[in-house]
Amino acid sequence: MPFLSEATTAQPPTGEIDYRLARRQLLSEFRKGRLAQHEICDAQPELVRVAREASSPTSVACPVCDDGLLVHVTFVFGPRLPKHGRCVTSLKELKALARQSGDFSVYVVEVCPECRWNHLARSFPLKPRR
Ligand SMILES: [Zn+2]
Repeated sequence: MPFLSEATTAQPPTGEIDYRLARRQLLSEFRKGRLAQHEICDAQPELVRVAREASSPTSVACPVCDDGLLVHVTFVFGPRLPKHGRCVTSLKELKALARQSGDFSVYVVEVCPECRWNHLARSFPLKPRR
């Protein structure tokens, strides 16, 4: 079953989850015309704002509009953080959270500020699991 083995190899033992497979499937549905652009380019205004102002630009072109470069926005979820997560913009901030007690999860979302395409890129525990 190629689908299964691919999903397994995309998941390294560190607890990191890679969402490339789901992303590829979604984009393939879009290219086949089964999904409209507004259905996949639905980033909330707040997400687009942080993508423009406080995120890490990549050199990867947007797979949907091909005009914009994707940016990565990092959210951390865990104890004492807002329900919708905290947007983290620096490694320093991430390290400070790692020193606190409790389990934190990091989610990296790729966003195209031009067409509002957004997709989860990967997630991982902030502290390595023992
Ligand atoms: Zn785009």
